[in-house]
Amino acid sequence: MKPGEAAAKQLLVLSTRNQHKVREMAELLPGVELKPLPPEVELPPEDGDSFEANALIKARAAHEATGEAAIADDSGIEAADLGGAPGIYSARYAGEGASDESNLEKLLREVGAAGGERRAAYVCAIALIDADGHEYVFEARCEGTLLGEGRGSGGFGYDPAFVPDETGHQDQRTMAELPAEEKNAISHRGKAARMLARHLGLETGAGP
Ligand code: IMP
Repeated sequence: MKPGEAAAKQLLVLSTRNQHKVREMAELLPGVELKPLPPEVELPPEDGDSFEANALIKARAAHEATGEAAIADDSGIEAADLGGAPGIYSARYAGEGASDESNLEKLLREVGAAGGERRAAYVCAIALIDADGHEYVFEARCEGTLLGEGRGSGGFGYDPAFVPDETGHQDQRTMAELPAEEKNAISHRGKAARMLARHLGLETGAGP
């Protein structure tokens, strides 16, 4: 490479139709050129029994359809008072195709009824299938507490009610009230993406 010439970015197909994830992954993996999933590729049902299994299902679908290296993430929230629910069913907790608002409403109703300590954790598994078909999974968590009512307009999903531990005891901002860089530094997806970036030999920013 000549001086001043930029290194070619690694190319990965991102196996998702979720625009929030496309945006967050692009922020989290600046050394990677993320290719959208071609529109004709049909994603199979996410019928795995873990975040890891579902991430692999989505990444395999993209790799098999394109022959290129592919990544996919599967994520969700586990409420301790509900025995870990909604977990892998987070995206459709209030029913197939449910909105973020109705999923959050249901979670807060059920956690309220459980009368426990309102502890919860976000979990994210990122699966990578490299161009040769080798499979890797990187999984991380972000622990926190659920408020009784949502606040803030950033992020997505359950963010308005989730207060992460890692911003500190005094800081009661929800994930939806954090600027994107602050969310990315502590989030489950941020941590898993940095594990992936290290595996790919890329520079990673601050954060675990
Ligand atoms: P997936 O698309 O099957 O991985 O479902 C992920 C679901 O988990 C989302 O639809 C959200 O409900 C929830 N979720 C995952 N990550 C986050 C996050 O960073 N903030 C808020 N909700 C999240």
